[in-house]
Amino acid sequence: MRFFVPTDIYVEKDCVKNHAQNILAVGKRALIVTGRNSAAANGSLNDVTNILNADEIPYLIFSEVEENPSTDTVGKAAQTAREFKADFIIGIGGGSAIDAAKAVALLLVNPDVDADELHKAPSHPLDHAPVVAVPTTCGTGSEATPVSIITNHKINLKKSIPHIIFPVLALVDGKYLASAKKQLIVNTAVDALAHMVESILNVKSNLFNRMCPEYGLKLWGECKDALSAAQNATGNDAENAAPIDASLYEKLMLTSTIAGMSIAQTSTAVPHGMSYDLTLHAGVPHGPAVGYFLAAYVEVCAKFVPQDVEKILSLLGIENVDKFAEMLRKLIGTCTVTREMRDKFAAAMKTNRSKLDLVPGKITPEDIDYIYEKSLMVE
Ligand code: NAP
Ligand code: ZN
Repeated sequence: MRFFVPTDIYVEKDCVKNHAQNILAVGKRALIVTGRNSAAANGSLNDVTNILNADEIPYLIFSEVEENPSTDTVGKAAQTAREFKADFIIGIGGGSAIDAAKAVALLLVNPDVDADELHKAPSHPLDHAPVVAVPTTCGTGSEATPVSIITNHKINLKKSIPHIIFPVLALVDGKYLASAKKQLIVNTAVDALAHMVESILNVKSNLFNRMCPEYGLKLWGECKDALSAAQNATGNDAENAAPIDASLYEKLMLTSTIAGMSIAQTSTAVPHGMSYDLTLHAGVPHGPAVGYFLAAYVEVCAKFVPQDVEKILSLLGIENVDKFAEMLRKLIGTCTVTREMRDKFAAAMKTNRSKLDLVPGKITPEDIDYIYEKSLMVE
């Protein structure tokens, strides 16, 4: 059994400021990679630049990362990094900015690799520049995973790239959630939940690596009523829903990082495999795209590993799979696609061996159809 997360991780209030020396030790010229607005708005960018300014470390900000970052964007950022002669990358934001930072770090030191070739398996492991990650959503855990999920619009593909890129340093501070809308917190918390569930309902799950998802699910269970209450307040009108108690921000962020550490050992499974088409072709944000499939996946896995499903539900403090499905519906609603889309997604999933082979039992094509039917409404 092995447990491997080589990232130096700090989870605490003001940790960017508290661990300035750790950032400064990583490199001498930084490209900071962010989304368009949030890093500037929530104070995370300012916290990082204050430290670089105080030590006169040159930096350039690339603030063009879109949700579900594309090969075009990471290619452009890598070119910017090369021209600036950056020697390290700081990714600040949600999973999109951090995943983009990882891909940029790889492209920076491999100028022969075209961004559009990022999904091709290399003949040998490639180096990458060091990455510092400052997450500002409570979902992907990308700060603690080796994964970078990039979209190539030219070939209609959203997928993780086959390169191992752990950040060297992760600075995790719940205060950055203060500027997030409730639905963003809820959506990303559902992603973290899926990471832990898919890590346990997974052939790579073992006694050793379960310490992360089992503890994380307990923490998630402690937040679930607050997350649901935020949605309940105005009948799922998230914009006006009750705020999530600020005292939970730190716990939600910690849970998300633990969930990242979980999938760093096992990788994600079927619900994530199913989510990518929904995001790519129907524009559904990552958390709900995964969450729609989660309850039906748990139900199917209950045939193979009933004691694991029982354990997950008991850690969350939920009675049964139906109540689990009901909670998810309350949090993220439902999703409607055309019948043609659903059939196309299901057909593609039936050949996705990289995810199907992770199921802890013999999942059948009928099981896959069942998950799609149960999870997506058709118009
Ligand atoms: P995201 O796509 O990074 O961000 C979603 C939105 O939230 C953006 O508009 C962003 O604005 C905004 N935002 C971020 N932090 C905010 C804050 N503190 N306050 C207000 N707004 C904020 O969302 P995500 O769910 O974190 O990341 C999803 C991506 O990560 C997907 O591509 C998914 O496939 C990937 N993922 C990666 C891993 C992994 O292990 N690497 C695991 C799961 C998922 P700006 O654009 O202005 O920043
Ligand atoms: Zn995810």
